[in-house]
Amino acid sequence: MTRESLGIDLGGTKIEGIRMGADGKVLHRHRVPTEQEGGYEHILGRIAQLVSELETAGEGLPLGIGTPGSLSARDGLLKNSNTQCLNGQPIHEDLQKRLGRRIHLENDANCFALAEARLGAGRDAAVAFGVILGTGVGGGIVLSGRIWNGPQHIAGEWGHHKIIADGPLCYCGGRGCVESLLSGPALAEAYRTATGKISDAEGILASLRDGDSAAHEVFSRWIRHFGIAMANVINILDPDVVVLGGGLSNIDEIYQLAPAAIAANLFNDELRTPILRHQLGDSAGVLGAALLANSTDNG
Ligand SMILES: [Zn+2]
Repeated sequence: MTRESLGIDLGGTKIEGIRMGADGKVLHRHRVPTEQEGGYEHILGRIAQLVSELETAGEGLPLGIGTPGSLSARDGLLKNSNTQCLNGQPIHEDLQKRLGRRIHLENDANCFALAEARLGAGRDAAVAFGVILGTGVGGGIVLSGRIWNGPQHIAGEWGHHKIIADGPLCYCGGRGCVESLLSGPALAEAYRTATGKISDAEGILASLRDGDSAAHEVFSRWIRHFGIAMANVINILDPDVVVLGGGLSNIDEIYQLAPAAIAANLFNDELRTPILRHQLGDSAGVLGAALLANSTDNG
């Protein structure tokens, strides 16, 4: 990095912004509510306001923005964002016009992977694979400190590779996608199907630790699917490190049980890839966004 930059994490309920020093340190942090009920133009205004609070007038610092959803490589429109009013909008182009500068926009999984690869658990890894395991499931590939997007902007879209033919239907239209098996809601649904009881991931793990056999069975299946899905990536990419983020990444049992589940599906007689917990917590998204401004060629 050669200069300061701005990072913005555009969430459904809040928009967080930071000003990052050339050394990667956060110099200033500010948050505003998204107020998505105000609509698309209102959100653009909120972002512009945040930017003006993070820099002095006319400064025009490099700016990166992270958001859930994906940017189409074909038409530049945002898709699959949980902030519904942004979907189908040329947000990238509109923000560049409004803020008068080139802006780097990436999905939240890529921002997470970049931040952890540069400043967190994957620091100094030549090839890092970052995974978000939460309400949604995503992934990002970072090569020598830069996000690898691919020509179709889908590199690292781990959440929608398929591991069970004719498996559960996913919102993307596919069946047996990793997201439809490994997300927090998918784990809760598997438990509800097995027991008739409604519980979230935390509750299911608490039951498992109390010796509940249904919770044990459901979570064992989750680990088995995780092992297959992760081995598929490692067999192709062979990253130096895998970093896990998102709500489910705080489950200790994953780090105890996943290595064997991955090894069982790996094209190698041992698993040497470290599977690590995130180090930057909830800040990874906004840190990754600020790093974008200094680390991508194709934003
Ligand atoms: Zn899918």
